Amino acid sequence: VRVTFTPIQRREMGVTGTIVVLQDVTEQEQLEQARREFVANVSHELRTPLTTIKSYLEALEGGALEEPQLAQRFVGVTRNETERMIRLVTDLLHLSRLDSKEAMLAKEWITVSDMLEEVADRFAFQLLQRNTEIFIVVEQELPTILIDRDKIDQVLDNLVSNAIKYTGDSGRIELGARKNAQNELEIFVQDNGIGIPQKDLSRIFERFYRVDKARSRNMGGTGLGLSIAQEIIRAHGGDILLESEYNIGTRVTFTIPYLAGESEEI
Ligand code: ADP
Repeated sequence: VRVTFTPIQRREMGVTGTIVVLQDVTEQEQLEQARREFVANVSHELRTPLTTIKSYLEALEGGALEEPQLAQRFVGVTRNETERMIRLVTDLLHLSRLDSKEAMLAKEWITVSDMLEEVADRFAFQLLQRNTEIFIVVEQELPTILIDRDKIDQVLDNLVSNAIKYTGDSGRIELGARKNAQNELEIFVQDNGIGIPQKDLSRIFERFYRVDKARSRNMGGTGLGLSIAQEIIRAHGGDILLESEYNIGTRVTFTIPYLAGESEEI
């Protein structure tokens, strides 16, 4: 609580009283705390690949360049780390645009089944490599919907990519869509992967929150995918929810209301 005292003064009578203002600054404090944590996280996430790159470059300089095979491996590592930094900075830019409401939704009418089939196509090679199958289940005669296709594709890509990343080989992924009783489009991505322990579930949409940092990093993750997905879905007036059982699988569902009318700005 912040307390401020202001004396009440009258010309002839001097100070006749005091105004005391008690201000609840909990929310401000929390925001400030979240901001500090975010900056610390970003710095750490950028520092880690930079440190790796630096040490590999030093090794190359210190003699590894003379050994072609070793040199090739080291160059490979620095390139991977650079790519991860680019992904991270791109994700941060997306988040900051969504935060500042700069992002306008460019909505168009979309046929959901086509959209889902194209997502599966984009991952065809990766799915084949992991010997994982994807099934698309779309309710018949699902109406078309007015959405920002690029942004919803970004959400879907992230969810399917997570489903693949956190499911071992020979997995099974289901991608479904239906219209629910609240006149919303409901899309889900379900996997039979490693799942998320109960204790982590409540924090999973937080920026940089990861169940297993090392695993996520190895998989090329930035820890921002779900936060970005949540911002995009909320910008569409919808909601996103994640259900998971450790060692059984995960299901992420998002909804987007069917609106009458044309494209709008947020
Ligand atoms: P990341 O880039 O680390 O994948 P996300 O924001 O997309 O970041 O996800 C946050 C964390 O949630 C992941 O690090 C992972 O621990 C967990 N997670 C997300 N999706 C799944 C899933 N389908 N199965 C198991 N864990 C998941």
